[in-house]
Amino acid sequence: MRLTVIGTGYLGAVHAACMADIGHDVLGVDTDSGKIAALAAGRAPFFEPGLPEILIRNTRAGRLRFTTSLQEAADFADVHFVCVGTPQRADSLAADLRHVEAVVDGLAPLLTRDSLIVGKSTVPVGTTRTLTRRVTSQVRPGVDAEVAWNPEFLREGFAVQDTLRPDRLVVGVTSPHADRTLRDVYEPMLRAGVAYVSTDPATAELVKVAANSFLATKISFINAMAEVCDASGADVVTLAEALGHDARIGRAFLSAGLGFGGGCLPKDIRAFLARAEELQVGEAVSFLHQVDQINHRQRRRTVDLARHLLGGEFAGRRVAVLGATFKPDSDDVRDSPALAVAAEIVAQGADIRVHDPEGIDNAQLVLPGPSYCTDVMEACRDADLVLHLTEWRQYRALDPVKLSQVVRAPRMIDARNALDPALWREAGWHVRALGRPVHV
Ligand code: NAD
Repeated sequence: MRLTVIGTGYLGAVHAACMADIGHDVLGVDTDSGKIAALAAGRAPFFEPGLPEILIRNTRAGRLRFTTSLQEAADFADVHFVCVGTPQRADSLAADLRHVEAVVDGLAPLLTRDSLIVGKSTVPVGTTRTLTRRVTSQVRPGVDAEVAWNPEFLREGFAVQDTLRPDRLVVGVTSPHADRTLRDVYEPMLRAGVAYVSTDPATAELVKVAANSFLATKISFINAMAEVCDASGADVVTLAEALGHDARIGRAFLSAGLGFGGGCLPKDIRAFLARAEELQVGEAVSFLHQVDQINHRQRRRTVDLARHLLGGEFAGRRVAVLGATFKPDSDDVRDSPALAVAAEIVAQGADIRVHDPEGIDNAQLVLPGPSYCTDVMEACRDADLVLHLTEWRQYRALDPVKLSQVVRAPRMIDARNALDPALWREAGWHVRALGRPVHV
């Protein structure tokens, strides 16, 4: 099939490459000509494991091309995936839909054949209905364009495998034709047994927002427990393990620490709060305010613990920050808890050195002040305190003995509860973590 993917960021570039990889002819579209030039040359414009390989394979095979022209997109295909950003609005908690609207307004008048516009971006419930009116009022006479929603659940760092082998596909459609078209698009996945939930657009839109709200709630729940552990001397890591054995609860998303960030969970729960208010059911989901607040409190608690370990003052102290991205295996620093902590510590007078395996370029744009190091040892040299803020695999493999030889004082906060504290203590480190007793 011929498909276009409009918006080739973290979601769209992966979607475009994966759709080509399962055999479709794909045209990726973006307004960012730099991104389009990189993609067209087979270069991923961001770090995502596995993406470079499928980009090269499919651009070389001629199944995957890129353009900045919506006209070319309208001419090329009858199925258009919309993958543009839906960030938080500057003036409220709500989602800013201007990019989605710009795509629809640009594309609809250019369509010359019956078409299916499939949204993949995360949007407030009711968006498909609004966009349908927008499209219908702008298409040429005789052209029928349907809007469907097919939310995306991929995780950065696992985006390629999540796209090729998703847990489920959810489509929100208003006609059997749209359902059939999307079944054809995803035929290889359906053949492999991937669950396919076909429903109305409102339910599909809500599945995504509800899933992210649930995941965010789970993280904030365990972080709230971590705070109770700190007050009572209990250990949140053992607590999470014991809770996780209960099949009704499950261990995933029960890792206490610095909390969630990134371009999705924080803005998605806020947009949900705003949309629920509009629908006059704000009270029903008001707990999400707490989820957001608990999440932010972990950043403050980490800064407070760091200041405490340094004797009450950051001024004149050197702090090594391990991790800048919002999660490992990504270069994404959007709403990164690690960078938020780093920024606060800088603001309070610390001299910090930041290491990250992939996120330094993006981090420098957001937080230009500190020194950035490509070598962990360099970042930790003469540090009075080391903060482990993003759980990259390579930090778990660090040798605490070697690291203790370069720091000024072997003090560590493992804000992700990802290191083995016994190992570090054996090497002479004073290790602290949120939700864990001092002696663990
Ligand atoms: P992103 O900012 O990385 O990418 C958005 C892209 O859209 C950019 O390249 C931008 O240049 C492009 N764009 C903006 N306006 C455009 C226009 N008018 N025409 C063409 N291109 C345009 O964002 P992202 O992380 O890929 O997220 C996109 C959407 O997918 C969001 O709604 C997000 O919530 C959702 N989502 C993201 C992820 C993820 O892990 N990143 C996962 C699931 C869902």
